[in-house]
Amino acid sequence: MMTSSIPPEHSRYSRQVLFQGIGNEGQARIIASRVVIVGCGALGTVQASLLARAGVGTLRIVDRDFVEESNLQRQILFDEEDVKAVMPKAIAAERKLCCANSLIKVEGLVEDLNAASVDRLLGGFDLIMDATDNFEARFLINDYAVKNNIPWIYGACVGSYGLTFPVLPGETPCLRCVFEDASPPGVSPSCDTAGVIGPIVSVIAATQVAEALKILAGRREAVNRKIISTDLWDNRHEAIGAPSRKRDCPCCGLKDFAYLDGRLGADVTTLCGRNSVQIRRREDARIDLEELAQRLGPLAHLICNRFLLKATIDGYQLTVFPDGRAIINGTYDVAVAKSLYARYVGN
Ligand SMILES: [Zn+2]
Repeated sequence: MMTSSIPPEHSRYSRQVLFQGIGNEGQARIIASRVVIVGCGALGTVQASLLARAGVGTLRIVDRDFVEESNLQRQILFDEEDVKAVMPKAIAAERKLCCANSLIKVEGLVEDLNAASVDRLLGGFDLIMDATDNFEARFLINDYAVKNNIPWIYGACVGSYGLTFPVLPGETPCLRCVFEDASPPGVSPSCDTAGVIGPIVSVIAATQVAEALKILAGRREAVNRKIISTDLWDNRHEAIGAPSRKRDCPCCGLKDFAYLDGRLGADVTTLCGRNSVQIRRREDARIDLEELAQRLGPLAHLICNRFLLKATIDGYQLTVFPDGRAIINGTYDVAVAKSLYARYVGN
């Protein structure tokens, strides 16, 4: 019968192997593939779960943040224990996914993607999944992917609305052909102001993963070339023809990678969906969390684990990571955040 043609190493994937578009050959390619997911919030948790279960052999998850109660409504890999333990999302995701599929390698990295870290974090992967929440990170991914000829899949949602399209360098328009600069119309309201419902996250992430499986299985001809736009509340589902590739596109046309070499992009980011600002250092810095805990002990209420130190001071929460990065919760004001960082963490 049909199943007798499925080799034992593919048995857990039998339903996917039986699917004509994938088959044994496609499954073998998926198992041999390496995928990096940038961001492990709403989109990232859905993508990671589907890709791990599909058998992607090496899965790296990069996220700079930790799990909070308001994430649980849509970030399907996390639970209340992760909130209590202030677990970094990348680590929590890695632990959950190893239980879902022990045959693959899952690596969670608690890091910020920026011009200084991009080569180290994205190098050596076959495909990049966008699960970020900001355009600065997406333009950086786009620069890296186009320069190194690696496909990546854009995805974004807010409210009940979402947008996704794949970027195949040299073949389809890149992100800067589609959106010239940050904050394109319609995507500018953030989850912070407009909220977001779980179903749109799953729809967009699942659409991204479907395109990913086509690429990984070697079925590039099946990849969607249009911009998929969906609104689950207003019942709109559209496939919009993408603009053609621009000859004078700074990225894929002129090969001027301004985000990669750090001419565009910032040290300070206001985080989506949170009353928070992230501060990072341009140079590579390490912070001794134990030493910092001793210093802040008399001033603040502290929670510390291997991955971060969280201090509540003056009504703000400072979460400091070993790479010198900090998330300051309780303000949108960059100046306030910078001054808190300078005062309590140092220069
Ligand atoms: Zn372009």
